[in-house]
Amino acid sequence: MSGNALRSHAIDQITNREKLPPKLPSRLEELWSVDVFTLTKMQACLPKDVFKSLKKTIKEGTKLDISVSGIVAAAMKDWAISKGALYYAHVFYPMTNITAEKHDSFISPQSDGSVITEFTGKLLVQGEPDGSSFPNGGIRDTSAARGYTAWDVTSPAYVMETDNGVTLCIPTVFVSWTGEALDKKTPLLRSNAAMSKAAMRLLKLLGNSDVAPLNSSCGAEQEYFLVDSHFAHARPDLLMTGRTLFGLSSAKGQQFEDHYFGAIPERVQVFMQDVEERLYRLGIPAKTRHNEVAPGQFEIAPVYEAANVASDHQQMIMTLLRMVAKKHGFICLLHEKPFAGINGSGKHVNWSIGNSTQGNLLDPGNNPHENIQFLMFCGAVIRGVHKFGPLMRAAIATASNDHRLGANEAPPAIISVYLGSQIEAVFNQIKAGNLTGVPDGGLMKLGVPTLPDFDKDAGDRNRTSPFAFTGNRFEFRAVGSSQSVSGPLVSLNTILADSLNWMSDELTAEIAKGTKLEKACIAVLKTIMEQHSAVIFGGNGYSEEWHKEAVESRGLLNLPTTADALPYLKDKAIVELFEKNGVLSPAELESRFEVYSEQYIKVIEMEANLVVSMAKTSIYPAAVRYLAELSNAIAAAKSVGLSLDTNTAENIASWTKKMTDKIGELESAAAKHDFDSTEAHMQHSAKVIRPLMDAVRECGDGLEYEVADDLWPLPKYQEMLFIK
Ligand code: ADP
Ligand code: MG
Repeated sequence: MSGNALRSHAIDQITNREKLPPKLPSRLEELWSVDVFTLTKMQACLPKDVFKSLKKTIKEGTKLDISVSGIVAAAMKDWAISKGALYYAHVFYPMTNITAEKHDSFISPQSDGSVITEFTGKLLVQGEPDGSSFPNGGIRDTSAARGYTAWDVTSPAYVMETDNGVTLCIPTVFVSWTGEALDKKTPLLRSNAAMSKAAMRLLKLLGNSDVAPLNSSCGAEQEYFLVDSHFAHARPDLLMTGRTLFGLSSAKGQQFEDHYFGAIPERVQVFMQDVEERLYRLGIPAKTRHNEVAPGQFEIAPVYEAANVASDHQQMIMTLLRMVAKKHGFICLLHEKPFAGINGSGKHVNWSIGNSTQGNLLDPGNNPHENIQFLMFCGAVIRGVHKFGPLMRAAIATASNDHRLGANEAPPAIISVYLGSQIEAVFNQIKAGNLTGVPDGGLMKLGVPTLPDFDKDAGDRNRTSPFAFTGNRFEFRAVGSSQSVSGPLVSLNTILADSLNWMSDELTAEIAKGTKLEKACIAVLKTIMEQHSAVIFGGNGYSEEWHKEAVESRGLLNLPTTADALPYLKDKAIVELFEKNGVLSPAELESRFEVYSEQYIKVIEMEANLVVSMAKTSIYPAAVRYLAELSNAIAAAKSVGLSLDTNTAENIASWTKKMTDKIGELESAAAKHDFDSTEAHMQHSAKVIRPLMDAVRECGDGLEYEVADDLWPLPKYQEMLFIK
């Protein structure tokens, strides 16, 4: 493979790199949670009554006794210092998808010139980061208050080791002084509480006397790409936007389907082991790893955990993937679509809810009582997805995920739910009023079919559905790979809370009429099916027929871009949903709309500017240099009576001319800033800027096809995807 000097040098460096030796696998017991201040460690070092009080706070969500926090802080500091930490940080999750932290030293200078280490209860429980640099969507302007962070005791503290040393990290919520959420954790905790309250109410109505608080669970499958950093550093687009803004597809793409579940390349395997070791130290249960469909694409998935902890852990997984990749000479791309023409990356959010008394409520049971319960919770989900599909779409709306949704490799931008043939059959029978049971399932004396042997076989999986039931949980497959899982979980918990409350009301009314419990449940489910069955779809979600049917006959919304989806956060029904369930106030929701819209606009603007600069300063010069070379050669040949073919020169001249024109159009489109509304600005980004970026790219890629390889300045797809 030839190339210009920079590319040849990169290839040289990569192929001759000194291999990092594989880590000798350590014993899991020696690694597991060593960097976490676990309950067991707290129990060992805290006075009995202090530990009891703290544990109560953690398990029951009661308020932390302030007299306890000083003792906990001192113990935590001693533990962290024993791990080599000099600093502590309140870690929080602002409305961007990043993790933010403010580091402070334990050091406290004394009047006699000496220093001691200090960490008070107040410093543990509350921090005041300079919040002004985090997006707040206008919240703090109105309340004129600073943001502060507060320890989320339900997520354990840990130490994080980086090149800069060891830091004690304390997971926190980030709120304004007046209590408004400025982060992604606060609404997640609230939505979980709303769901738990609503579920407990329904479970009691269903005849359960002992009902424990419920928790949502999440297991997120993370896809990512690895590219050698020598290449990435020569691609300003990858470095700054996380994706290639130019690049001709390589001759070999994913058409041979030889990457998926193939052997993991050795260098990648060493990287994965390193990541996993770090994850185990942090108590993150990484479980599966494999190649993904596209070349250079991989996946990691931990075992599911309580949603709040899973969400914190997911952020840590993203941080560690990026950090450890650097050490191994890779850049880890979490972007949803780093390379055109091959699969993008998603994050499948597996979600279920349960408690210690009834177990997982999305798991079909073994007796009629459990089955009715399962059908009720499943019905609640169906209703929620139908009523609030646009909210689910908005919760996964980002500039980067727009490249993936609906691109015939990822779920469409139409939200529907896949149940699997058996459960779908039961719900259809309920709707038709002739519950006879599913094939192989008997009919119980109360007219309730048992559903003992659900087909959990992978064959019954629908990979084209954005939201699919997979045996004992729902899998939200449309979530983007770079996203925090928190937003999607907040929407799921909240729509479920809403549906469960509605069902409890209906059920109470039905029972008041004298209807027996089981019959009343079936009646409520029948109503749900009559009103909401349009959202159930088991066919091919990628097909054109579905796009037509969904919109034209079923009245579902197809919201292809973020510009189309985000405005639904202002929809009356959605504002009410969040307010009624105590998850987000109208002001908080409005601020989220502002922040997310602004991010969308900014990302596209930044990309557009980069498209212009790369086209002008990298691609154009390469094209005209080669054109000059060709023209000279053609003229020289002519002077000695030979004739050279002029096709290539003509193609280059025409692509270059077209590119220059499109750059001009893109520059003026990107410079436009006077819009009547945020919505109008977003539409401009989606419908004017993006297509112009594509048009410039088309010219750039046309030139890559023609220009001599040794003059081409940017690492090519085949290099980035295949050289490791
Ligand atoms: P797949 O076949 O989709 O690759 P896996 O079996 O690897 O599925 O599981 C995917 C994720 O789903 C894992 O994180 C797993 O822990 C999680 N998961 C399994 N059961 C549940 C559940 N009941 N609730 C939430 N997540 C779950
Ligand atoms: Mg999966």
